[in-house]
Amino acid sequence: MKAAEFADVLDAVRRFVRTEVVPREEEIEEADAIPAEIRRAAAEMGLFGYTLPEEHGGLGANLTEDVHLAFEFGYTTPAFRSMFGTNNGIAGQVLVNSGTDEQKQRWLPRLAEGAVAAFALTEAEAGSDPSGLTTGARRDGDGYVISGTKRFITNAPLADLFVVFARTGPEARGTKGISVFLVEAGTDGLRVGPKDRKTGQAGAWTAEVVFDHVRVPSSALVGGQEGAGFGEAMKSLVRGRVHIAAICVGMAQRLLAESVAHAQSSRQGGQPIGEFQLVQAMLADIQTGAYAGRAMVLEAARNYDSGTDRKIGPSAAKLFCSEMVGRAADLAVQVHGGLGYMRGVPVERMYRDARLFRIYEGTSEIQRLIIGRALVRDGV
Ligand SMILES: Cc1cc2nc3c(=O)[nH]c(=O)nc-3n(C[C@H](O)[C@H](O)[C@H](O)COP(=O)(O)OP(=O)(O)OC[C@H]3O[C@@H](n4cnc5c(N)ncnc54)[C@H](O)[C@@H]3O)c2cc1C
Repeated sequence: MKAAEFADVLDAVRRFVRTEVVPREEEIEEADAIPAEIRRAAAEMGLFGYTLPEEHGGLGANLTEDVHLAFEFGYTTPAFRSMFGTNNGIAGQVLVNSGTDEQKQRWLPRLAEGAVAAFALTEAEAGSDPSGLTTGARRDGDGYVISGTKRFITNAPLADLFVVFARTGPEARGTKGISVFLVEAGTDGLRVGPKDRKTGQAGAWTAEVVFDHVRVPSSALVGGQEGAGFGEAMKSLVRGRVHIAAICVGMAQRLLAESVAHAQSSRQGGQPIGEFQLVQAMLADIQTGAYAGRAMVLEAARNYDSGTDRKIGPSAAKLFCSEMVGRAADLAVQVHGGLGYMRGVPVERMYRDARLFRIYEGTSEIQRLIIGRALVRDGV
């Protein structure tokens, strides 16, 4: 995106998040839903396709631009970014990276306008290690028949399109023989379960997705090529990790703002608690973590965009920032004292919301394995 154009988008997003979404966080939490007018406004701002190519109706943001936006999205409920996160991230990027021209022309403009794509990889025994997935896609005439069950699929209850990973090869497990398909919502045999009851991130929905002999044409095979699915999933997830790290930084910044405001206004022993040095130390630790995370994310995004590091940087940023925001949320609750344990107080909600970041798009353990393995294999 041109620098001036991007500055306008960033400014509009920042204002929208702070004036329209932040004041409605409690309503989103209670209703477990994003209000329709927020969704409409996000679509009008181009947020459903801000990383998708301009020629297909998106805003064409690179990862460096993406993380600047994500710092702003992270400042409010993660449900806001989750609404369009799969379009721009894990699901949309599969199409951008490997879709045929026909697949891109058919889907990307619709996604950019506000349709929703879900990324369906995880299964009961294939989470951290998706090479264990057992959903199968059997060739049948001029198409495929997909059978299997996916779980924890973000946006499944809203999705118009499912990007589905299924085994086309004869192997029972392993990274080979996995392919990726585009399955339209409403296709016969595709069933979305009730939304999951989660710890946090209310307003962002996940659900089980069952494929019961779902027939799709050959044109649904992404890139027209069997066996490329595992690589596609990994490529999409790497980019997503830097984005998630940036969301964590945004949330840490918000936790800091809430904590500083509380420390300045709440009093004990006749003085603001912010005058106690032990409280100041907690604020200093939140600030330092957010600052380090921000620097790391910007470096990881730059190296991703230039192609110099698409392995260690993204995993290191996701590992550090998701752990960092967990500590920041814990400290923010502590700064708030008993109030920090009460429903309706933003840091209490964020304490629950933050927990997910260490789990999805690769747990902290998996990030450590990726980093460690790359170091031993390639040296430093
Ligand atoms: C709210 C939410 C949204 C999600 N959205 C999506 C989505 O949109 N699409 C999608 O496909 N998936 C999605 N997921 C799934 C998510 O990516 C997985 O939950 C995650 O990757 C962990 O897999 P798992 O739950 O199977 O846990 P497991 O893999 O069973 O992990 C359990 C524990 O074992 C550890 N572990 C596992 N393997 C190893 C190993 N080799 N070495 C050391 N430790 C290991 C893990 O780190 C973890 O601590 C979502 C999950 C949640 C909770």
